Amino acid sequence: MADVPTPVADAAGESPITFSSIPFWARPDALSAAADRVPTGASHVLVGVGESGAAQVNRWAEVIGHDVAVTRVVHVDADGAASGMRAAISRSVVGVRVLVAAPAGSALRLRALAVTAGLEDDEFDMVVVDAEPGGRTIDVFCSHCRTTNHVDAVVDDVISCRGCARSLLVYHHVSRRTGAYLGFMVDAELPRGDDIPQESTR
Ligand SMILES: [Zn+2]
Repeated sequence: MADVPTPVADAAGESPITFSSIPFWARPDALSAAADRVPTGASHVLVGVGESGAAQVNRWAEVIGHDVAVTRVVHVDADGAASGMRAAISRSVVGVRVLVAAPAGSALRLRALAVTAGLEDDEFDMVVVDAEPGGRTIDVFCSHCRTTNHVDAVVDDVISCRGCARSLLVYHHVSRRTGAYLGFMVDAELPRGDDIPQESTR
């Protein structure tokens, strides 16, 4: 498939998302080709977040059949799925394949878990599924106070940091090791708080 996503124009009319660190499967309008691929591996860990994630896990399990070991981890949220996934990976042997079906923000966090657990890129696959209400949250790391915010937002949204109350732009960069988007102050040139520049008197 083509890995070229539909560019999302920012306010300046540019398309930075094309070159960003957001994996193609987590970008807007991404096609989840992995959902239709027949999984191959000596054993499988199938991870689903939410109802749509659980449904995808069931589809994978059906396709894989009973000839290879399958561990299912299904949870309503990424935190629960993460602990189950961590345990399943620690028990797994060489040749394991980890397949994750989750809303985008959760999938990014679970990818980070797979990466930090030492899995190679060809040992896991991500499929982004629809989120139920309340399941659309992503992590946004504040570059100013280092708080990680769990928020319902997309790239280019502006959120309020719960650590420092700055208005953060959700930037099109995702940490591979944490799954968090980078957030920085909307206008980093401006000082904080009440120092909003007054109209020029010149
Ligand atoms: Zn902050």
